[in-house]
Amino acid sequence: MNDVRKHYFLDRWVITSSNRGKRPFDFEIREVNIQKRNCPFCPGGLNQPIFYKIGEPWRIAVIPNKFPCVSNENKVSRRKDFFESFPAVGFHEVVIENSEHKVKFEDFSEKHIKDILDVFSQRTKSHMSDKSVQYVSIFKNKGALAGASIAHSHSQIIALPVVPRLIESERRKMEEYSSMFGECIFEKIYKEEKKEGKRILIDSQKFYALAPYSSVFVGETWILPKRHVRTLFELTSTETQDLAKILKQVLQTLDKIFPGLPYNLAIHQAPKNRDFHLHFEIYPRISNFAGFELSNDMYINSFPPEEFTEEFRKVKF
Ligand SMILES: [Zn+2]
Ligand SMILES: [Zn+2]
Repeated sequence: MNDVRKHYFLDRWVITSSNRGKRPFDFEIREVNIQKRNCPFCPGGLNQPIFYKIGEPWRIAVIPNKFPCVSNENKVSRRKDFFESFPAVGFHEVVIENSEHKVKFEDFSEKHIKDILDVFSQRTKSHMSDKSVQYVSIFKNKGALAGASIAHSHSQIIALPVVPRLIESERRKMEEYSSMFGECIFEKIYKEEKKEGKRILIDSQKFYALAPYSSVFVGETWILPKRHVRTLFELTSTETQDLAKILKQVLQTLDKIFPGLPYNLAIHQAPKNRDFHLHFEIYPRISNFAGFELSNDMYINSFPPEEFTEEFRKVKF
């Protein structure tokens, strides 16, 4: 039975899950040995019902996660004494991004990436209408070092009963900044980075890609809309098209600089009935966090974002 537990005194939540231990962790062996016919995400190997799909036969499919960390079947009771917790209700889904086993995300066509983004958008909207859901987290793990247990290109969607700490603190800071300066911090970042001229990776029509000033990860990249958009489903079709293009370009370039790069991609969007500025964050997993990082929540980045930007700009297609 899963529950969501609050830290003794910090606003930090942990989903405590007892079935995740069954998950296979021998990724490297699996990744090498896994045959297309044994893949649970290939059309012939699917053993879960399809909730939502694009194409017939499907080109993109949404299925329930076999080991959900949140579920509406969780019946544990709420605790509000010294120990605070409540049932880990919500939805945990997998988006199989392509019916072919081997194609990497960055090699999909722009049109196909746009379709994937439209699926994310549809699922976000659908989950947000559920009364238990406060936030929809969408992320992608690519490669064993980034926590992926299956090689077939996929993302996960977790609709949560709480707003995660990082999202809530980004959002609160954004609101504080707007009330002080009358401007969205995310739009201010664009103006200042444009002036500085050292860390904007791609400046497209509706979006831009940035190596953030205080990058935690080597090659950390953010992709942001220039307009104040809160969630994926507020994007216009032209904006989603531009986003697909820039996302492909960013991931292709990262793969040229760091071949076979493992990474995590996170979509940060507004919680239910809250303001925020949608953005994507990509965390390359080149170096692993060790004692200093884990003990202090403070980081050492050995490849400054300006140098990464120089490398990025050198890549030609
Ligand atoms: Zn497969
Ligand atoms: Zn904004």
